[in-house]
Amino acid sequence: MEKEGNSGNEGTKSETSAMSVEGGVRTDVENGGGGGEEVVVTPWTVSGVVDYDKLVKDFGSKRIDQDLVERIERVTGKPAHPLLRRGVFFSHRDLGFILDLYEKGKKFFLYTGRGPSSRALHLGHLIPFMFTKYLQEAFNVPLVIQLTDDEKFLFTQDPKKKLEDFYQMGKDNAKDIIACGFDPEKTFIFSDLDYVGTMWKNIVKIQKAVTYNQVKGIFGFTDSDNIGKHGFPAVQAAPSFSSSFPDIFGEKSDLPCLIPCAIDQDPYFRMTRDAAHRLKLKKPALIHSKFFPALQGDNTKMSASDENSAIFITDTPAQIKKKVNKYAFSGGRATLEEHRELGGIVEVDIAYRYLTFFCDDDELIEKLADGYRKGEILSGEMKLECIKVLQDMVKQHQVRRAEVTDETLKKFMTPRALER
Ligand code: ATP
Ligand code: MG
Repeated sequence: MEKEGNSGNEGTKSETSAMSVEGGVRTDVENGGGGGEEVVVTPWTVSGVVDYDKLVKDFGSKRIDQDLVERIERVTGKPAHPLLRRGVFFSHRDLGFILDLYEKGKKFFLYTGRGPSSRALHLGHLIPFMFTKYLQEAFNVPLVIQLTDDEKFLFTQDPKKKLEDFYQMGKDNAKDIIACGFDPEKTFIFSDLDYVGTMWKNIVKIQKAVTYNQVKGIFGFTDSDNIGKHGFPAVQAAPSFSSSFPDIFGEKSDLPCLIPCAIDQDPYFRMTRDAAHRLKLKKPALIHSKFFPALQGDNTKMSASDENSAIFITDTPAQIKKKVNKYAFSGGRATLEEHRELGGIVEVDIAYRYLTFFCDDDELIEKLADGYRKGEILSGEMKLECIKVLQDMVKQHQVRRAEVTDETLKKFMTPRALER
């Protein structure tokens, strides 16, 4: 049926066969601190100092190199997003095929999502959306955003949380997602609870193409996990196929798909790509980001359940200032004299690291790094720069968020043909 592009381009090799425990990687690594520390990267847990080179190898994805960044700039005629230039989006699957097709005039669609586990998003959650907005604009393509309220309900450990709560959090999160600036004519946001019926044909085909042993191997499910968990991966897989959206793309469509996400989501899409191969559908392409670090440092990702690790997009300027000053891990030296003499370590300095995510000004970043290394810029000064950038960014987001009405939300969440 489908011969071109990335359909079945990986031969018959199964991408899930190389998978290790719980859909991710658990390894004992020697880190700088000396003793071995367990590194875990799964869709549910990220801990330890992640070695991204090793992750790329273990997951079997590809590094994004300078050539690929330049190719994206050529193809789009636009400068690469700082998150791409600076290596936050660092790994991919089949991005080259998407670009090949695009150059021949064949468009694709973007698919990303959000598991509504908290009412407020933190800065880490924003990264994929900021980047997806750039992709939508640069390539001028439609986008679908899945709110996995069903998943969060099935996976929560909290017996007090009701299904309705996750549905409501999804709606709240959608307003924050809209505030990132997506094009209403080209973006469809859906709650699984509302929309799964339309995707059901593809979901059952995917379920039939994946065995119980495979999901156990990929995701680490056990016999005592509820049966909803075992079925859920097919629900996250289905939006990778444009035929899951008959009212948007038409039931017969086979538009290629590109998925921007944090690398912890890769196991879902390795499974999807395997199923696609079996179903003779186009494999979705992926572009992966690194994790946004917690205030406490690079050895853990920012997480909503640890208040002090996270800056939320609902935080006030005073809260941002306090959190950065109090918690942001510093690469500065123990004393002022030592700092002046030896210089600070930008690589571990969280204030600096956050600037590399959110400050577009390359020159300023360079100047700060240089001054810090030479001991001319102090930790407090770096934090001040970071606080300014974060306060400004969060403020702007809050202003845009306040403008998102229920009407706007309804528009984004109504199934309809999208411009392409
Ligand atoms: P919790 O701590 O309550 O589990 P969380 O902050 O980890 O919340 P989740 O809802 O578990 O948020 O995250 C959903 C997805 O959002 C993750 O699987 C990941 O892809 C992305 N994500 C979460 N935190 C980060 C982060 N710090 N950096 C990049 N992506 C993140
Ligand atoms: Mg989590």
